[in-house]
Amino acid sequence: MSTVGTEGNPLRVAIVGSGPAGFYAAEHLLKDKELVVGLDMFDRLPTPFGLVRFGVAPDHQKIKKVTKVFDRVASDGRFRFFGNVDVGTDVTLQDLSDHYHQICYATGAQTDRRMGIPGEDLTGSRPATEFVAWYNGHPEFRDYQFDLTAERVAVVGVGNVAVDVARILCRTTEELAATDIADYALDALSQSRVKEVIMLGRRGPAQAAFTNQEVKELGVLPGADIDVRAEEARLDALSAAEVERAGDRTLNKKLEIIQSLAASEPTGKSRKLTIRFLVSPVELIGNDAGAVVGMRLVRNVLAMSENGRLRPEATDEFEEIPVELVFRSVGYRGVALPALPFDERSGTVPNERGSVVRADGTPMVGVYVTGWIKRGPTGVIGTNKPDAVETVNRMREDLAQNRVFRPTDPTASGADELVRSRRPDHVSYADWRKLDALEIANGKPNRPRVKFTAVDEMLNALRK
Ligand code: NAP
Repeated sequence: MSTVGTEGNPLRVAIVGSGPAGFYAAEHLLKDKELVVGLDMFDRLPTPFGLVRFGVAPDHQKIKKVTKVFDRVASDGRFRFFGNVDVGTDVTLQDLSDHYHQICYATGAQTDRRMGIPGEDLTGSRPATEFVAWYNGHPEFRDYQFDLTAERVAVVGVGNVAVDVARILCRTTEELAATDIADYALDALSQSRVKEVIMLGRRGPAQAAFTNQEVKELGVLPGADIDVRAEEARLDALSAAEVERAGDRTLNKKLEIIQSLAASEPTGKSRKLTIRFLVSPVELIGNDAGAVVGMRLVRNVLAMSENGRLRPEATDEFEEIPVELVFRSVGYRGVALPALPFDERSGTVPNERGSVVRADGTPMVGVYVTGWIKRGPTGVIGTNKPDAVETVNRMREDLAQNRVFRPTDPTASGADELVRSRRPDHVSYADWRKLDALEIANGKPNRPRVKFTAVDEMLNALRK
């Protein structure tokens, strides 16, 4: 048999997951002109793009334009998309290793982290990730309900997901109606009685995880006044010294933005968006029916930890705030993959430059990870590109050493037959382009698209 990756024996790669991490890996694999390669990308949903479709906020359409890059990758004759195929259920790792030389998992971080405080499971305490998936029309979340009769909503965390959630709750119906938010979410949010949204940062402004553009946008919402307490926006001595030492222009700009938000006066808008710093929820308070009615907060000061990072330290100053809905936005978390090792602490698959390693430190031949399942839920969409390059370079090194699976049937038609036999209703990229065109047509004239949110609706539209 000739060398893998040549005309006589093309390299066959399966990429599991069609978000940015998966597409950037595909892009880099296809770039190597020397390599003869065939790529199949799997997704358990019929639609590609992962968090670009289901995570990026509907009022941030510009960010979604990155899908043009992914379309270009998908137009390569060496690329195929197998949507509506669940790896782990419809096809197993064993099946894939019978048909591919290398498998790259780009499955992201599919669940949420917990706060670990009493009352976290009361009715009305919800992970922000569920709300995000719901308003973005994720088929597995479309039937979720959120009680938007609540007047006061807390969002725990000050990362960009918290900002997205707070902003969507504060948008007017007219603003939302011009986006591709799911129709049912538009309906529910147009009847929302939310008057105040309170974002809660456990550390100070200098440690806030949101990015400058995102926090700046909160100060110019047509439907909500912004409220930041001057005393909480002020830097403590440790942070001031750290900021001075870092000399980071972006951070200095962020602090300027926060100061200007603190200085702004309310203008009588119908909603208020409050950003608090240096407070941690210590308990959610429930009523007799088990529903959230309030939250107990402790004031923090910052202290230097051993790793040189400023950490929040609780004081003995407490306060209670009335809230009827709480979104926990303290980070995403990866989910273990069948037959692969998993690090429970970080919620990632242990790896060495993308090559999956077992508990004893030995690499698993042929199995790779990229994106959030590899490094954890950090960074913006573009961060996945260098990450994918690193993994693909490692895949090439292993190929050069002939460290690959020995598939029994490494033909493109063999993989196609496998998928057809397990999921006759799988969705190709050409099918997705049809769905895409229908969604865009359904959005005309005012919306970027109206999304299909149920798998059977998608398959019916394709007559599968
Ligand atoms: P994140 O950026 O890691 O922010 C998590 C927030 O939760 C931080 O403020 C963190 O505070 C806080 N937190 C963690 N544990 C907590 C606890 N027990 N109690 C109180 N607060 C706690 O995560 P994310 O917002 O989920 O975003 C994930 C990634 O996606 C980020 O890289 C983000 O930038 C990216 N993203 C980007 C965009 C965009 O570009 N527009 C939109 C959405 C998401 P500490 O800092 O003190 O730990």
